[in-house]
Order: sequence, then C-alpha cells, then structure tokens
Amino acid sequence: TVVTRFAPSPTGYLHIGGARTALFCWAYARKTGGKFLLRIEDTDRERSTDAAVEAIFDGLRWLGLDWDGEPYMQFSRAPRHAEVAHELLARGKAYYCYCSQDELAQMREEARAAGKPPRYDGRWRDRDPSEAPAGVAPVIRIKAPQTGEIVVHDHVQGEVVFKAENLDDFIILRSDGTPTYMHAVVVDDHDMGVTHIMRGDDHLTNAARQIVIYNAMGWHVPEMAHIPLIHGPDGAKLSKRHGALGVEAYRQLGYLPEAVRNYLARLGWSHGDDEIFSTEQMVEWFDLDGLNKGAARFDFVKLENINGHYIRAADPDRLYKVMLETAREVGRSSDFAGLSANADTVLAALPELQPRAKTILELIDLAQFIYAVRPITPDAAAAQQLTPEARAMLGEAASVLAGLEDWQVPAIDGAMRAFAEDKGLKLGKVAQPLRAALTGRTVSPGIFEVMVLIGKAESLARIGDQSQ
Ligand code: GLU
Repeated sequence: TVVTRFAPSPTGYLHIGGARTALFCWAYARKTGGKFLLRIEDTDRERSTDAAVEAIFDGLRWLGLDWDGEPYMQFSRAPRHAEVAHELLARGKAYYCYCSQDELAQMREEARAAGKPPRYDGRWRDRDPSEAPAGVAPVIRIKAPQTGEIVVHDHVQGEVVFKAENLDDFIILRSDGTPTYMHAVVVDDHDMGVTHIMRGDDHLTNAARQIVIYNAMGWHVPEMAHIPLIHGPDGAKLSKRHGALGVEAYRQLGYLPEAVRNYLARLGWSHGDDEIFSTEQMVEWFDLDGLNKGAARFDFVKLENINGHYIRAADPDRLYKVMLETAREVGRSSDFAGLSANADTVLAALPELQPRAKTILELIDLAQFIYAVRPITPDAAAAQQLTPEARAMLGEAASVLAGLEDWQVPAIDGAMRAFAEDKGLKLGKVAQPLRAALTGRTVSPGIFEVMVLIGKAESLARIGDQSQ
C-alpha cells in the first residue's frame, strides 16, 4: 500500500508551498487507501522551535489534512541514524574521515581557484584508519560511486541524470555522532515504509545523494515526484508580497480552508480545465501524472474568486462561527462583540451578504451595519451622497416610512417607489442616500432588506440622524 509523508522543518510557520506539498501527499494517500505520515524534521536544534511545530499541526488541522498515527520526530531517532551509519561502515560502504577543518578549507579553496564546485576529494576513502591522527573525532562519509551515473526516476521531472563525478563522498554522520540531514531523511523514509516521496524540486539534487544511501544499504528507492516551486505572479521567486505567507495568515485574511485546498490543488496539478472542485473530487482524481512540470504562479485574484465561490456555497451557521473566530483572532473586538450580540440578525442577513463577499473579513465588514452604533459616521463615498438636497429628501422619506404599518420588503419597496415617483426622482436618488444614512456605506445588501433586518425604529433613527 501507498505510504506518503510530509516532512517539514519546524523553523518557521507552515508556508503555503509546504501546505501544497502536504495536500498532494495527503490526497494521494487518501485516494489510494494508503497512509499519510507526518515527520517533523527537527534535527536543526538551533532553529527548530516548539511554536513552529505547533504552527505546523494547527495549519494542517485547519486545512483538514489529517495524518495517520503519531508524528515522527526526527531528532528522537538520532540513535537509529547512527546505527545505520555504522552498519554502512561495517559493510565497507562508508568510512571514517579524519580531515581537519584546515584541510577541508584548502580543498574548497583549490576547487574555487579551479572554478569547480567544492568537493571532498575522497582522501580517506581507502586509507587505513590506523593512520588516523590522534585526538581527532572522525566523521563518517558514504562511498559514493566514482564513475557512471545516478538516475532519479521522477514522476514530474522524468529521468534526471547526475554524473557520479559530481557527487562527492558526503558526510552521513558528524563527528559528534549526529546524522546529517541527507542521511536522516533516507533512514526515516525507509523505516517509515514510505513508498512515494513528493516534495519541492529544490530537493532534486538531494534525491541523487539519497539514492546513493539507498543503494549502499540495498534498500528499495521510493517513487519520487519533485514538484516545481510556487512562483509569484511575475514569475519571480515567491515573496511575502506574493502570498508566501504562513497558512494561519490565510485564515486571518478570511479564506476558507476548502477554498485554500481547492486553490492549492490547482497550483501545480490539474485535472483537465476544472478550476472548482470539491476535496472529494480532488482525492478521486488526484494522480501523479497530473502534476505539472512548469512552475505554478501564485494568483491572489484567483484565490479570492475561489474563496468567493465557497463563501456563497457555505452554510450560514458555519459562516457565522467562522466570522466570530476570525474577528477574535485578528483582534477586531467591536466586531466580535457586535456579531455575538446580534446572532439572529446576522444569520438572517447572511444570505444577502454571502454573494457580496470574497473573504470572511469582507463578510464582517458587510455585516457591520447590523450593529453599527448611532450616530453612524458615513465613509467618504457615502458622505458624498448626503448632499443638502438628499438630507432634505431623507426627512420626507422618513415621514412616509414612519406611517408604514407593514415593515416588510414589498411594502417598504412599494412606498419608496411611490415616494420617488411623487418627487420626480429616480429610485436610485432615494435609495443611495438611504443606504448612506442606514449603513454609512455605498455598498450593502438591498436597502429595503437592510431596513427590515435592523427594524423600523432603528431605521427611522438612523435616517433621522442624517436628515434635515
Ligand atoms: N524538511 C525538508 C524541508 O522542509 C523536506 C525534506 C523532504 O521532504 O525530504 O524542506
């Protein structure tokens, strides 16, 4: 059965590229009825933090990417990594190297002078350890092949050929007994029974080195798929400005997890021309052949549009909860209070608000008229609607509205149409100042719906605040 893994280093937030890798690994495991494992690569003790580990767990949970079993913590497996290094040593596939820092620096310097990449020259490969200088703690290096080629059979990149002469005898165990990243990954992937490695294509050259270790141990090399990294809309490396944010930033910006899943799925993978699909469909359709070879470009506009789709499709009860959580998380305390105190009205308004919002934050903005505190200060655009003539008109409209018994949309609508006709005004000339007075904005749900939602008394009071 298929076993995939996501292996983030907990040195920062779970960024969007990592989230995409996790999504692909998760989808492939779910599609095939396999397992999706999580491995926290915390061997860099200086840079790994508990907060980053928590951010990874939170991000994956929010995205709904449930992993199987307990997460593997790489650092805790250090004894096993050392054990395999010593096994390679015993089998003659690796050797102790006693090079001093000075010798290594000199090798690097010579390579640089010759215009070549730095490369360890293998000087301890065949030397007898009895020649070891006293008092030097050795590293263990793998015996990499010196001739021929190493081929990475990659599901995205095809056959990628590395010349053996370009790979040196790299270190697998440091002199302090800790494994190098390269070695730990192979031992863990093998021990975890990983059958499919999917990760960013920045790991492609690592793959060649890792294959050297697999071969030395006689282990089966997993299937590999190195996915092109995500680029910004301009084709440059993804930066913060482009969306290289942590997953929690997307939550705080008001994106729904299913929208982020859908969007990320399309970023580097495709199923025909389908843009919007459910997670179930993605799982059903996902396969390695659909992974794109070209770099994907991050497109906020597309993400917003997809998010808008999912906001329209979402159940109001759930959206209301997400609005509350988001308001609290981003510190919008007056919105949190207003939303909390007006649950029924917000819920009743949501079907009107949903088609008008692309993010949860926009949805909150749109709901603000419900709990706006009088007197409302109109925003700049709304203030322009409130000319002296408009204020005078509002006063007359208020008298008409005050006389209405039936406070429902059809009755208000009828009364305001008749009023506009009476005054020789287009309906918009009545509705826009009403909107400015009632919501302080120029964009809102239908203005008669707004009046019903906030009620007659509040409507008349708000209009009264702005009329002359
Ligand atoms: N820990 C590595 C990273 O965060 C991933 C290693 C791997 O997938 O093999 O880039």
